[in-house]
Amino acid sequence: MIKEEYINFTIGRQKRIALIAHDSKKQELVEWVEENKDILKNHFLCGTGTTARLISDETDLPVKGYNSGPLGGDQQIGSRIVEGNIDFVVFFMDPLEAQPHDPDVKALLRIAAVYDIPMANNRATADFLITSDYMNKEYERKVINYNRVINNRIHEFTK
Ligand code: PGA
Repeated sequence: MIKEEYINFTIGRQKRIALIAHDSKKQELVEWVEENKDILKNHFLCGTGTTARLISDETDLPVKGYNSGPLGGDQQIGSRIVEGNIDFVVFFMDPLEAQPHDPDVKALLRIAAVYDIPMANNRATADFLITSDYMNKEYERKVINYNRVINNRIHEFTK
């Protein structure tokens, strides 16, 4: 196992989806969730505080809310990805407005890339993802084998 460069993690048929939208994109995300309600109701939904509340109020879908984004919600979602408890992200970002929590947003994008998480950052990508055959199937995402990385690094420090 330690020799393998990557480890597979299974994204189940039932996805654990995080929903996030910057302020100017919140209405668009609510509309997108409403349009795709029949699919999304079969999955576990969570999101940053304000986005999660808005979506559950407007669509009646259950959405577990973390803290609001600027108060650490993006970081909480990132940590759930690291722990293996979130495996799909829809994050409608505002490309035209500076965000006070920009470092947290960058950290979430980075950690999602590290953990090979399907992530839509705009509506078109979200439409492609939600209509993918993989929505009804399992998918093996490939994550760097950190045991191997740690092992190699330990060797470096103990030579
Ligand atoms: P919010 O956070 O849903 O609490 O507004 C989203 C964000 O800005 O990252």
